[in-house]
Amino acid sequence: MSTDAPRYRFAPSPTGYFHVGGARTALYNWILAVRQGGTFVLRIEDTDESRNQPQWTQGIIDALAWLGIDSTDPHFEGPYFQSANAAEHVAAAERLFASGHAYYCDLTSEQIQERAKQTGTTGYDGYSRDRGLGPGEGRVLRFRVPEGHTIVKDLVRGDVDFDNATIEDFVLLRGNGTPVFLLANVVDDILMRISHVVRAEEHLPNTPKQQMLWDALGHGAPQWAHVPVLVNEQRKKLSKRRDKVAVEQYREEGILADAMRNYLMTLGWAPAGDTEIVEWQSIVESFRLEDVNHSPAFFDVKKLQAFNGEYIRLMSIEQFVEQAEVILMSPGVPWPADRYRPEMFRAMAPLVQTRVAVMAEVVPMVDFLFLAEPPTDDASFTKAFSGDVAASTLEEIAVEFESITWNVEQIKSAVEAVGERHGIKLGKLQAPLRVAVTGRSVGPPLFEPIELLGRDETLRRIRLALARARR
Ligand code: GLU
Repeated sequence: MSTDAPRYRFAPSPTGYFHVGGARTALYNWILAVRQGGTFVLRIEDTDESRNQPQWTQGIIDALAWLGIDSTDPHFEGPYFQSANAAEHVAAAERLFASGHAYYCDLTSEQIQERAKQTGTTGYDGYSRDRGLGPGEGRVLRFRVPEGHTIVKDLVRGDVDFDNATIEDFVLLRGNGTPVFLLANVVDDILMRISHVVRAEEHLPNTPKQQMLWDALGHGAPQWAHVPVLVNEQRKKLSKRRDKVAVEQYREEGILADAMRNYLMTLGWAPAGDTEIVEWQSIVESFRLEDVNHSPAFFDVKKLQAFNGEYIRLMSIEQFVEQAEVILMSPGVPWPADRYRPEMFRAMAPLVQTRVAVMAEVVPMVDFLFLAEPPTDDASFTKAFSGDVAASTLEEIAVEFESITWNVEQIKSAVEAVGERHGIKLGKLQAPLRVAVTGRSVGPPLFEPIELLGRDETLRRIRLALARARR
């Protein structure tokens, strides 16, 4: 890689589950780094000790790997940890003091407020700018904001003009000597030779300050790009409290990585052509920050599920079985592990693959095959057996089942024969049979699983249901 190849970075703070908005930002950086033959640096911004936890860091690394971003790819660099650079952050602050770009101030926040009240302004008024104070206990180091305007050149938003008069002399080192995040973030970007900062829009208000720091530290600013937020259906910003935002949670429910990353890339951007479901490679080739929409993008869970359904349909049957078995053979299933029959699931798989939107839906479609008793709920049972002839026709079906050759065709004709005798349509006739055998009123086609369950077990379930219906 040449030295002027672009260097992107993704710089999450490990304070919780990995947010879908973060995942989208990571994908933007990744795609551009890969396409341009550059680097994607993963930097964990772990300096807020009260909120960080190591498991969140691992969660981010795992979720990125799930989306295809990991250290097995030569474009990937890291993870680096911001906390490891603390000395560099302080050293940079000291350089800014030595060069006159920053100065110490000993006012307490009460004194600052008091002064603001007297002059009828808000915030810090630059009181200590020319007092020539040196470092000392309780003194903060502040940046000397120059006069004029700061123009942030942003690939998504165009040129954004900030009047420096609206920006107070902001703090770089706290009274206890620790650097603030704003400074740490810039110093790390400089140290890591970052050329492109692509991140969430919420950081835009800080960007003029950061651009001034780049300048004062003797570097040209990076290319900025601030990506609009994701919102829910009420057009409110996605929040941890209100919305399902954790990538991990979608993964557990059986959203496929390919579907997730394709869907995330359609938020505020669209691949050329009529369809949004496209090969990853074509997204990598065509994505441009300049084409990202300025307005917030709606994170539509239903649409994500529809995407996922499409991706499930695109899988080969072997892939589908493999993915489904991650769930079917996990400890969360409702049947004892030794009752799972892979050959039964394989036989059912084509019928299930066409009917699920997320992989977790596979479980209730096939649980009755592996549970000792079908998971019957009272409401479905009562409804299915409410008709006058429900029990008697089911009895007749059972009689037919006793003597037929046990295969799908014969099972189907036996049920149809009973229907013809009574002039009842197949759909209606099936309801009590379905509930008796599967415990549910909806599910995959019925005759295949009946064949799989076998004559004895099917008849046992029918008899149990009949006994219950007649109680
Ligand atoms: N650590 C910041 C965050 O998680 C990111 C800052 C940045 O990308 O510059 O929001």
